Amino acid sequence: MYLYNSLSKKVEEFVPHTPGKVAMYTCGPTVYHFAHIGNLRSYIMEDVLEKTLRYNGFDVKRVMNITDVGHLSSDADSGEDKMLKGAKREHKSVMEIAKYYTDAFMSDCAKLNIKTPDVVEPATNCIPEFIHMIEVLLEKGYAYKAGENIYFDTSKLESYYVFGNQSSDDLKIGARDDVTEDTNKRNKNDFVLWFTKSKFEDQALKWDSPWGVGYPGWHIECSCIGMKHLGEYMDIHCGGVDNMFPHHTNEIAQSEAFSGHKWCKYWFHVHHLNDETGKMSKSKGEFLTVSLLEEKGYDPIAYRFFTLLSHYRKPLTFSYDALDQATATYKKLKNKILLVPEEGEVDEKAVEEWHGKFAETVGNDVNTSMGITLLYDVLKTDLNGNTKRAIVDDFDYVLSLDLLKADEEAKGGEEDELTAYVEAKIEERKQAKKAKDFEKADAIRNELLSKGIVIEDTREGVKWKRQ
Ligand code: AMP
Ligand code: ZN
Repeated sequence: MYLYNSLSKKVEEFVPHTPGKVAMYTCGPTVYHFAHIGNLRSYIMEDVLEKTLRYNGFDVKRVMNITDVGHLSSDADSGEDKMLKGAKREHKSVMEIAKYYTDAFMSDCAKLNIKTPDVVEPATNCIPEFIHMIEVLLEKGYAYKAGENIYFDTSKLESYYVFGNQSSDDLKIGARDDVTEDTNKRNKNDFVLWFTKSKFEDQALKWDSPWGVGYPGWHIECSCIGMKHLGEYMDIHCGGVDNMFPHHTNEIAQSEAFSGHKWCKYWFHVHHLNDETGKMSKSKGEFLTVSLLEEKGYDPIAYRFFTLLSHYRKPLTFSYDALDQATATYKKLKNKILLVPEEGEVDEKAVEEWHGKFAETVGNDVNTSMGITLLYDVLKTDLNGNTKRAIVDDFDYVLSLDLLKADEEAKGGEEDELTAYVEAKIEERKQAKKAKDFEKADAIRNELLSKGIVIEDTREGVKWKRQ
């Protein structure tokens, strides 16, 4: 398999630390609100990555955290506490908010056929692990105490900006919010490991620690939860591009300072889904969720299909027109598959051959659109129906588009629509013939023919069938 690695900025052959096994980590959601469909683009692509690895024969263990503490509205330790903001908005406790939105996230994932990772761990489950890692960082001289908080000292590292290309905006991130800068920090990009003193006097969740009662910073959770379940070597770490800095940069700083060796080999970053006005965000206008799409009559799997048509390393613009188009294409594709006759003996050799082709195609940096093209190629072959169905089913392990699931209602609906359309055309042709407008009558016959419908004039009247 080949994967683009944000560390080297190249497509590299994927070679895990332990042959055949993959330690994979995903930054989970901050559960203070619903996930928007942009967040879910990232999770769909990470799901496809996991399934592509498994499809290529790797034994994957995938871990995801749930951020239920410590994430401030600026990723660089300033602004409001996101969980507290959610709790205030809804007059609920932080834990109630966390539970509600974790469940909502899991339900959105299920609707989008996103497999639940092998381990899902809320940050608040791992406070002792955070404290241990911070203690080691202090012992090793990578952390310091100032103003009652514990900070990571970025100046102690040989290279901090491991992903390079930090824009000047990123570097100014701390100054972006109208918040007074944290004067405890020795260096601009030092970050909080443990808060005991913060402006959040009413912080709901607090734990005892060697430095006083307080709560963890945001970044520590992914380093600790990753190591807790995957050990000191990670193969792939995933997230959206906005996580590269400061979050992933800080995760690497902590983890490598703690263990004394390189931590994660491959970094997989999904580019953003934007709306037509720019970046998608929870605070802007209509908040695009899976439930909203459902309310408007869209099938969540059609949204999954929409995201699979584009490469994960390109920004994608959402519009209802684009989703309508993707929905129509998805329905047509599904209908095409449903019309494949269930006949013939499955040609296992052909299934294996196409498995190899698909593994290579999607295994080339998760090229989902080429994977879908391959699906059309299979349908075009002269393989028997059951063999085609077996291949489609095999591809669908990765694509997870319910391609063989007979959506009776949808199929019935489509069929009714087709019948109504053809019958109306036949009536129109009859009228044309009556009026001796044979040119028009022929044009109607050809129009139907172009749609794969053949009409026959018989003694009993006009009959029609699919070509
Ligand atoms: P959050 O719940 O804010 O921690 O974000 C959850 C995931 O969604 C992270 O991996 C983010 O990097 C990712 N993400 C945030 N905004 C977008 C977007 N517009 N498009 C794609 N992924 C996003
Ligand atoms: Zn993370």
